[in-house]
Amino acid sequence: MLDADFFRRWLTAAAAAVDRAADRLTELDSPIGDADHGSNLRRGFTAVVAALEKEAPDTPGAVLTLAGRQLISTVGGASGPLYGTLLRRTGKALGDAAEVDEARFAEALRAGVDAVAALGGAAPGDKTMLDALVPALDALGAPDDSSGDTVGGAFGAARDAALQGALATTPLQARKGRASYLGERSIGHQDPGATSSALLFEALAETASGDASEGSRD
Ligand code: ADP
Ligand code: MG
Repeated sequence: MLDADFFRRWLTAAAAAVDRAADRLTELDSPIGDADHGSNLRRGFTAVVAALEKEAPDTPGAVLTLAGRQLISTVGGASGPLYGTLLRRTGKALGDAAEVDEARFAEALRAGVDAVAALGGAAPGDKTMLDALVPALDALGAPDDSSGDTVGGAFGAARDAALQGALATTPLQARKGRASYLGERSIGHQDPGATSSALLFEALAETASGDASEGSRD
């Protein structure tokens, strides 16, 4: 079962991953954007970690909604409201349960990703964060048999799918967001938002596998 502490550790790991990758995210946002994606997310996730430490929310839903609110209020770019909506809507879907199982989390995340699509009007193939989020979610709902049915296995499959999805944005022409203003010139560049979405799933898999290996030592 996944409790508030699990979600807090996930977002803390995500903040660390964003911090490490910030320069690269900004670099990806240079040719097809305005070179601020890394600094946007670093500012947002720094605020998320500070708020989680200060307020110590005690349910998974409260952790995610607080984090989402921080992203919306601190990130100026398009990605702030989009990621903020993702976390807030996912948190809302989890309600006030003290613990949730993986299936319930996957279902809530589906609501969150649907809200991102509704807010931004994008679909997979438009060269946005959805090109990583949607395949990750699909993998989470239906993990590969060979990866087993443990929490680590499902999250590992989601991490791999998100990374593949991010890499696969390179040959696409952007149809949403700032990059779409470039038309065909957006082709040949990896989408920064899909890349940061892959980082979130990498942090999730890392958090889950840390739990699994702790469990195996019991
Ligand atoms: P901005 O484009 O305002 O500078 P960021 O640079 O922080 O914001 O984020 C850019 C990323 O946001 C893009 O790489 C893309 O993945 C994502 N994005 C932009 N517009 C949309 C949209 N309408 N739907 C989904 N994702 C979007
Ligand atoms: Mg930008």
